[in-house]
Amino acid sequence: SIRIENVSKNFSAFAALNQVSLEIRDGEFAALLGPSGSGKTTLLRIIAGLEVPESGEVWFGRKNVTEAAAASRGIGFVFQHYALFGHMTVAENIGFGLTVMPRASRPSKKDILLRTNELLDLVQLPGIGGRYPSELSGGQRQRVALARALARRPRILLLDEPFGALDAKVRRELRGALRTIHDELGLTSIFVTHDHEEAFTLADRVAILNHGQVEQFEKPKRIMQDPASDFVRSFLA
Ligand code: ATP
Repeated sequence: SIRIENVSKNFSAFAALNQVSLEIRDGEFAALLGPSGSGKTTLLRIIAGLEVPESGEVWFGRKNVTEAAAASRGIGFVFQHYALFGHMTVAENIGFGLTVMPRASRPSKKDILLRTNELLDLVQLPGIGGRYPSELSGGQRQRVALARALARRPRILLLDEPFGALDAKVRRELRGALRTIHDELGLTSIFVTHDHEEAFTLADRVAILNHGQVEQFEKPKRIMQDPASDFVRSFLA
């Protein structure tokens, strides 16, 4: 599991996260939902190791990773803006994380190619490895970004508004694809969004954030039936 214990994070005097505790189970798909500035991205970055909290701890299973380097955490990360390298082909983008591994653990060129093709099949874009990102649609680019995030076989997948820039139809398609991949690979996934529908259709449980605190973390149905606070009630209305 991923356990967040009493995590606080300030930027200057501003409390972006205030004593947040949350436990995400192995294999679970969790969404972080809340208004702009509620602390969703900050929480995700702390889980990823891109940010260190002032106080509190982060545990992956029995390991305290609060201060562990991001690269050691076995995480795949997908951002809103695909951040694909424009001068590299799709295959090179997907394989990039493998080509920069230390020599001793780096797969051979042949294995990287095999892995890349396997990942392109997984995201349902077979045969496009030779194209450049500029030749792809927004939805295709996000599928490539997802493939790249999975290249090193992470157990945990973190996604920060990955479909934010896409239109409604493409968003829905990608949602389905993402949920299938999550289930097939047995990942533990955390998905940041401010889109209610997206959170409630994708996630097993939804954490509702407000002003750096978790107001409620439960199954979509439970939240709908029994909002834990006035904030949750009005946020969902
Ligand atoms: P959004 O949906 O707009 O991305 P969010 O819920 O992801 O919002 P965060 O990005 O986590 O919110 O930001 C929480 C608060 O912390 C915001 O008020 C933001 O301005 C502040 N903040 C985040 N990162 C920094 C930083 N590096 N320096 C200063 N303030 C920051």
